[in-house]
Amino acid sequence: MHADKNLSHTQQTHILTSGVRTKFPNATTTVFTLMSQLATQHGAINLGQGFPDFQPDPELLAAVTQAMKDGLNQYAPMTGLPALRNIIAKKIRHFGGRQYDPNEEITVTAGATEALTSSLLALVHPGDEVIVFEPTYDSYIPAIELAGGKAVTLPLNAQYMPDWGLVSAAITQNTRGVVFNNPHNPCTSLWSESDLDALARLTARHGLWVLADEVYEHMVFDGKQHTSVANHPVLSECSVLVSSFGKSLHVTGWKIAYVAAPAVLSKEIRQVHQYNTFSVATPLQAGIARYLETSFEPLEQLPAFYQRKRDYFREALAQSPLRLLPCSGTYFQVVDYQAISNLDDVAFSRWMTQTIGVACIPMSAFNREGKHSGQVRFCFAKQESTLLEAVNRLQALK
Ligand code: PMP
Ligand code: GLN
Repeated sequence: MHADKNLSHTQQTHILTSGVRTKFPNATTTVFTLMSQLATQHGAINLGQGFPDFQPDPELLAAVTQAMKDGLNQYAPMTGLPALRNIIAKKIRHFGGRQYDPNEEITVTAGATEALTSSLLALVHPGDEVIVFEPTYDSYIPAIELAGGKAVTLPLNAQYMPDWGLVSAAITQNTRGVVFNNPHNPCTSLWSESDLDALARLTARHGLWVLADEVYEHMVFDGKQHTSVANHPVLSECSVLVSSFGKSLHVTGWKIAYVAAPAVLSKEIRQVHQYNTFSVATPLQAGIARYLETSFEPLEQLPAFYQRKRDYFREALAQSPLRLLPCSGTYFQVVDYQAISNLDDVAFSRWMTQTIGVACIPMSAFNREGKHSGQVRFCFAKQESTLLEAVNRLQALK
């Protein structure tokens, strides 16, 4: 077939691509990417997108390097290296959770993002309703909608906790599941045992599955305990638990995470994972398995490690006109800036990045309607010197 010489290149291209229809009519590039780009462009300190600016443990790097040298450079099994799946099962038990069968119930994924999307693509059918709490992490709703489902968003209350009356009232005959994030990004709140019990009662009554995003499970402060679905007798039998070594081992760029779920759920999720990702980086999996083989101390140290950073950052910020919201977990600090600016939170975040030289994330990014919040989120997973420099720049705020 020859191109029609009477048509311009643009017209030709238009015809050739006329069959393409978007599945994301309302989506744009994520705010994390946009703010990181803006930070680079303006030489701002990037407290926006959540990632550490320090190196992981040299022993972990050595274990991965050794795995590469040992020749572990070809495809891993689809479900993950057995050594890593065994360690994950052991780790969950170690922290008081259900005994998962590493062969049938644990799957290693390309980050928690893949774990979440594969789980939702596997479990949500066209017309299904899935309950999501707002503020919400940005990938849940697009994945539910990609699967043909409807996300039913319910607001968290003033303490950023679920209102169980609202949840109960939102359940219809089409409701199939509940997605939640604990500890919560960006609000930092932690679910209590009684929240898990309330959810368990609803799941038992209505036959719902649960998708628990627990990527910040080891970042819980002030002596509080993380309440995992894995440790709950009812929820552990109907839940998909997602966690990420990216967060727990300070290696967000490695994109190694996992799904732990009863076999009947894992079987479905593995079907999607198999055709989507198939398997994830072998030497990274082997290195992590070796690193955690002898001890879970690196994970046990995390609450104190991040609490020190939280306290350092909060104390330094206490002098500024920004109002600090409570921070119970994760590595994020939310502040209210309304005492100093009437800008909407997107404009304020841009201004902060361009003029003050500190990048942050507008809280409206975690809201489906993009409602202006008067609040922005900072990530404190940084070296003290970075936090200090950021706070010095923030002194310019009046
Ligand atoms: N869930 C939440 C709540 C997150 O904050 C993140 C990343 N910041 C993810 C999932 C994605 O994790 P990963 O980088 O392992 O894909
Ligand atoms: N989850 C990270 C955050 O909240 C961002 C990850 C991403 O950019 N997708 O900052």
